[in-house]
Amino acid sequence: MQQELEIAVAAVRQASLVCRNVQTQLAGAVLEKEDRSPVTVADFASQALICKALLEAFPSDPVVAEEAADELRNAANATVRDKVVQYVSALCPGAGADAVLQWIDHGGAEAASRFWTLDPIDGTKGFLRGEQYAVALGLIVDGAVEVAALGCPNLEVDVGGSKVKGGIFTAVRGQGAAVQPLDGDAAPSPIRVSSTADPAQARYCESVEKAHSSHSRSGRVAEAMGTTAEPVRLDSQAKYAVVAQGGAEVYLRFSRGDYKEKIWDHAAGYLVCSEAGGRTTDTSGADLDFSCGRKLERNQGVIVTNGALHDAVLAAVRATEA
Ligand code: AMP
Ligand code: MG
Repeated sequence: MQQELEIAVAAVRQASLVCRNVQTQLAGAVLEKEDRSPVTVADFASQALICKALLEAFPSDPVVAEEAADELRNAANATVRDKVVQYVSALCPGAGADAVLQWIDHGGAEAASRFWTLDPIDGTKGFLRGEQYAVALGLIVDGAVEVAALGCPNLEVDVGGSKVKGGIFTAVRGQGAAVQPLDGDAAPSPIRVSSTADPAQARYCESVEKAHSSHSRSGRVAEAMGTTAEPVRLDSQAKYAVVAQGGAEVYLRFSRGDYKEKIWDHAAGYLVCSEAGGRTTDTSGADLDFSCGRKLERNQGVIVTNGALHDAVLAAVRATEA
């Protein structure tokens, strides 16, 4: 999987740097999707760049990604489309609108025995607030996440003892997890979850957006664990990265109703955290099942821990069931 990892990291780095650039120039760069959620020039440019890299390196691998180019074909969205093409062609000289829209649509495939899943910007709402977001790419083979590259351009990461802003978290199944700075070419350094085993000492993270995860439910779970620390709220799979590098012990996600999580919102973070020594299940304690297509159809909610605390967190989840 070394070639897969190298291509994934290079593509995620390029896309993350474009996102960071767009985040400083958001005027006229945002659209509303059919489901009323926002999408930006950076989401589209990131998807185009990563799909192009995957198409060139692994032409027969399908890509299951969050965005589609339809909205950009609508004449009303020409300004956004032109900006997307401008950002992409700056890195891919000669690329015109047709090529860029086709690269975006390369991400419209169905899951297969081997496929990539991509969230070009996970946490778009955080991105728009100038806060945390992630560029998340995972390779799934026979239902198992094998390779992950997770770009977190605004996250403070600890690289070999020094703190830098912006990192790429990586993992290959069975080979551990690492982080490298987004800027420069420093070598990856291994990461490890925290070893805290006392539930009362646990620090937990959760979504900023209450609509994505019930804050009152997580508050009750924390109380049952005897945890006194305030929740760390941040957008995107940066939450998995925080647990993976030992900045918190727990990530709680209590989705509303029977919402089924999308695979691109979890695949990369799941592997990074697992390979750093953590454990991830749904709220019933079942493993995440990445073999059901675009969604985690067989799971409800997500519980991520440093491993040592997993049983205690699941017990608190059960004890606080509505
Ligand atoms: P977060 O930044 O952790 O709050 O999660 C962002 C992701 O939540 C987005 O990429 C969406 O795919 C996903 N999402 C959208 N609606 C919901 C929902 N009702 N429940 C859980 N997740 C959602
Ligand atoms: Mg997402």
